[in-house]
Amino acid sequence: MEKDCIFCRIVHREIPAYKIYEDGLFFGFLDINPRVVGHSLLIPKKHYQWVYEVPEFKQFWAAALTITRAMQKTLSPTFVTYVTHGLEVSHAHIHILPRKHEREFVPAPITIPKKKMEEIARLIGSAV
Ligand code: AMP
Ligand code: ZN
Repeated sequence: MEKDCIFCRIVHREIPAYKIYEDGLFFGFLDINPRVVGHSLLIPKKHYQWVYEVPEFKQFWAAALTITRAMQKTLSPTFVTYVTHGLEVSHAHIHILPRKHEREFVPAPITIPKKKMEEIARLIGSAV
């Protein structure tokens, strides 16, 4: 736990998140500045800076696949893409983007009301 890390604080429930997934090692939640409906982040519960430093690398991506399947069941995306960036928050995370028509590498942010965010999180969370 890094005390100044916003994602560590989410794992420890010190700040709220729209949770979609949790297992022993990983935690999934909606990105607060979504770029598509259902834009999610998957993080290891333990703090590592980069995705390739996560010892359970395979399980990490297997969990991303579990979330992808849940998105396919509930949001009917055309396709799903993944981004590992990490220049803003230095706690390893996989961006999971269920897409309908957005063809950009990274689509521009969109506004989704809180109620809708809760509903999307519930929907994905119910199918994992
Ligand atoms: P990057 O480090 O460039 O991959 O970007 C970090 C991502 O984390 C951005 O898409 C932010 O919108 C997202 N983010 C930052 N703070 C929060 C938060 N408290 N809850 C959910 N997502 C967040
Ligand atoms: Zn952290």
